[in-house]
Amino acid sequence: MVDLNSEILEDTYAVTPRTVPIRYRERVRYDRDAVHGVLDAGLVANVAFVLDGAPSALPAVYARLGETLYLHGSRAGRFARLGAEQADVCVTVTHLDGLVFARAWLIHSVAYRSVVVHGKIRLVTDDEERMTGLAAILEHVATGRSAQARPPTRQEFASVAVVAVDLEEVSCKIRREEQSKFEPADLQGGCWAGFVPLRQVALEARSAPDLPAEVTMPPIVDGYRGPFPVTDEAMSTVPAPPARPAN
Ligand SMILES: Cc1cc2nc3c(=O)[nH]c(=O)nc-3n(C[C@H](O)[C@H](O)[C@H](O)COP(=O)(O)OP(=O)(O)OC[C@H]3O[C@@H](n4cnc5c(N)ncnc54)[C@H](O)[C@@H]3O)c2cc1C
Repeated sequence: MVDLNSEILEDTYAVTPRTVPIRYRERVRYDRDAVHGVLDAGLVANVAFVLDGAPSALPAVYARLGETLYLHGSRAGRFARLGAEQADVCVTVTHLDGLVFARAWLIHSVAYRSVVVHGKIRLVTDDEERMTGLAAILEHVATGRSAQARPPTRQEFASVAVVAVDLEEVSCKIRREEQSKFEPADLQGGCWAGFVPLRQVALEARSAPDLPAEVTMPPIVDGYRGPFPVTDEAMSTVPAPPARPAN
């Protein structure tokens, strides 16, 4: 089981040569609160890697538990292979918060929050940690979901790969400005300038067509407002992994 309180951590991630951007350094932050905030507010991470000499990036759901990101995939999939090889990856999570309309083509911009994680991906082999990772991914999507839904059977558990990336080399970049710098002459051109805020919203949930009449929609889904930070409370009730067959 992962102990979230096992280490006393600095408030910021160590800055390394590859976490310092060439441009707009003042927008980059290394404090854990900012990084955690961006990660906990996202549902999809993009995992970039080089496999067999070719660069790829794959989107995946994930969860942050303490200082670790958990992802899962098929045992036959690329995350499992990358994890087994302890491959170098770069994981990004991005929120697009708005579109900045300027008066000139190249002054248009966006408001955003993003995190970049550099590190090695590892295949989780400890069954308790695998259960914890799987539960955390569900809990990140909807608090309490891992207790509502059936845990994996032995066969299901055997077919899934859980991989992890530790948060060690991490940066966060936030751009909130609603306006870009512009040439004063452009003010007179009659072109609209301004800001279009964007946010991710859930529409009304739809019950499965085969849902028995007596099963009601849980509050966490009705008016869904996730994703959510994974709570210690939810992690304290993760069931034991399904038993391995006796040899
Ligand atoms: C939604 C969105 C749209 C963007 N659109 C553009 C665009 O159209 N053109 C453009 O040039 N840039 C865009 N950016 C910014 C882009 O992500 C880079 O920050 C920017 O290109 C500067 O790169 P650099 O060469 O200075 O960084 P590099 O020197 O390549 O980066 C070095 C390190 O700095 C950190 N870093 C750099 N960028 C980020 C980031 N965004 N978030 C967290 N850490 C970071 C990472 O640790 C990275 O390894 C966009 C960002 C977001 C989130």
